[in-house]
Amino acid sequence: EDFAPEVELGLNWRNSFAALGTDFYTLLPPRPLSAPYWVGRSASVARELGLDPSWLESQDALEAFSGNQAIAGTQPLASVYSGHQFGVWAGQLGDGRALLLGETASGYEVQLKGSGLTPYSRMGDGRAVLRSSIREFLCSEAMHGLGIPTSRALCVTGSDAPVRREEVETAAVVTRTAPSFIRFGHFEHFSAREQYAQLKTLADYVIDRFYPACRETDKFAGTPYAALLEMVSERTARMLAQWQAVGFCHGVMNTDNMSILGLTIDYGPFQFLDAFNPAHICNHSDHQGRYAYNKQPNIAYWNLFCLGQALLPLIGEQELALAALESYKTVFPAELGARMRAKLGLTDEQPGDMELIESIFKLLAKDNVDYTIFWRRLSHWVGGRAMSDAPVPDDSVRDLFLDRPAFDTWLLQYSERLAKVGYGLAADLMLKTNPKFVLRNHLGEQAIRQAKLKDFSGVHTLLNLLETPFDEHPGFDSYADFPPDWASTIEISCSS
Ligand code: AMP
Ligand code: MG
Ligand code: MG
Repeated sequence: EDFAPEVELGLNWRNSFAALGTDFYTLLPPRPLSAPYWVGRSASVARELGLDPSWLESQDALEAFSGNQAIAGTQPLASVYSGHQFGVWAGQLGDGRALLLGETASGYEVQLKGSGLTPYSRMGDGRAVLRSSIREFLCSEAMHGLGIPTSRALCVTGSDAPVRREEVETAAVVTRTAPSFIRFGHFEHFSAREQYAQLKTLADYVIDRFYPACRETDKFAGTPYAALLEMVSERTARMLAQWQAVGFCHGVMNTDNMSILGLTIDYGPFQFLDAFNPAHICNHSDHQGRYAYNKQPNIAYWNLFCLGQALLPLIGEQELALAALESYKTVFPAELGARMRAKLGLTDEQPGDMELIESIFKLLAKDNVDYTIFWRRLSHWVGGRAMSDAPVPDDSVRDLFLDRPAFDTWLLQYSERLAKVGYGLAADLMLKTNPKFVLRNHLGEQAIRQAKLKDFSGVHTLLNLLETPFDEHPGFDSYADFPPDWASTIEISCSS
C-alpha cells in the first residue's frame, strides 16, 4: 500500500468541535488539488499558530494545505448550519466547501476553504477560485493589520484545475484560522429543527470555551444564555463600529456569515470605500442594497435578533432576550463615536463633537471625497500644525472638496476644537487610526491579474503593505493613491 504518510505539524491538535457529536457535522477528508503551487503565505499567522514560517515553504506544507496529504492529529469535518440569506430563511446550508481540521494547542481552529464537495455543497462544486481566495487571504490580513477582529489566513495554494463560474477560472485553497468559525446560523439550525438538546450543547460549548463569564453574571435572572446573547451583541457592535469607521463593506451579511465571536468572517464581495457614498453597495448581486455601507449597523442588529430568536428556547423569556439585545443599541453608537473621535484626533469627548463628526461626513458624502485619502491627509495636516516649521498647506485636504468654502468653515471649527487637544497628541492618534493603505478593489484586482499569470509578487507586496497599514512604506505611495477610472467597472458578486 502506498498511502501518503501523514504530515506532522507538531501543533498538538484538539478536536473539541468533533467531540460535540455527529449531529453537528460530517467527517470527511479534503479532495486532492492537482499539482498545487504557492500563491501566498503569512509568516505572522504561522507564528501565531505555532508553526515555523520556514516550514511553511516545504513541499509537505504545500501538499497538506492543498488537501493532498492528511495532517496527523486532525479530524477534518464539515459542520452543518442554517441561516437567513438576504433577509429570507434559507434552511440548511453548512460548510459546502470548507473543512475544519481541528484546533491547535494555541487555540485556533484551522479550516481549508475550497477543499472540495461536502454533504452541504448543495448546487456548488466545493471549490473556491483563485480570485476570491486571494481576496480572502489579503483582506483577512488587512483587517488584522487595521486592528479589526477577523479570521486570519495562513496561506493560499493554487492549481490549474479548472473551476466554472461566469467563466472558467482555476481552483485555490485558503487555509484560514480563527478561535472559532461558529456562526449565528449554527444556532439557528438546531433551533429551527426544534433540536433543543443540541442547541443547548452548542451554547454550553461556546460559553465554556469563549464566554465563561456568562455563568457568573447575576443579570438576566441568572440565565447564561441571555448573557451570551448580550456578549455577542456587544462584540458585534464593536466590530460594526470598526467597519463603519474604516469604510469597510462586508457585502453578504447573512446570518450564516456572522461569527459568534464578533469576528469578520467569510470574505466575499467586500469592499473598502473609495469615494465616500453612504449608500454604496459593493455586492453586484445585492440588487435591493440590503447590505449597503450605511445599512450594515442595522443589519447586524437584525441578525442578532435572529440569534436571539434561535436562543429563545434556552433563554425562556422574550423580555430577557430583548434586554440582552438592547446592549447593541448602546454599545454601537458609543463605539462609533469613540472611533470617529479618534479619526479626528480627539482624545476626549466634548459637547459639539458629534456635530463636528456629522458635518464632515455630510461634506464627504456631498462631494464623494475619497474616504481613506481624506482621513490620511487630514492626519498629516494636523501633524504639520504640530510642527510649525513644517506646516502642511490646507490645500492638501481642501482640494479634495468641491465645496471649498463649506470645508473651510468646518476646518475652522475643527481647528478650534483641536487647539484644546494639542496638535501633536491629535496627530499621533490620527496616524495610528487612519490607515494609509486599505485593500481597495483595484489593488486586489491588479494582484489577481498578475497571479493568474503565475506572478505572485503583487500578492506579496500587498500583504506586506496591509500587515502594517499605518506605516508610511516609502516607495509604495501609488498603493495609497486614488483608484484609477477602471476601478469603478470592477464587478464583484457572490460568485466565488
Ligand atoms: P457564502 O455566500 O459564500 O457565505 O456561501 C453560502 C453557502 O453556500 C455556504 O453554505 C457555502 O458553504 C455554500 N457555498 C458557496 N460557494 C460554494 C461552492 N462553490 N461549493 C459548495 N458550496 C458553496
Ligand atoms: Mg458563508
Ligand atoms: Mg463565502
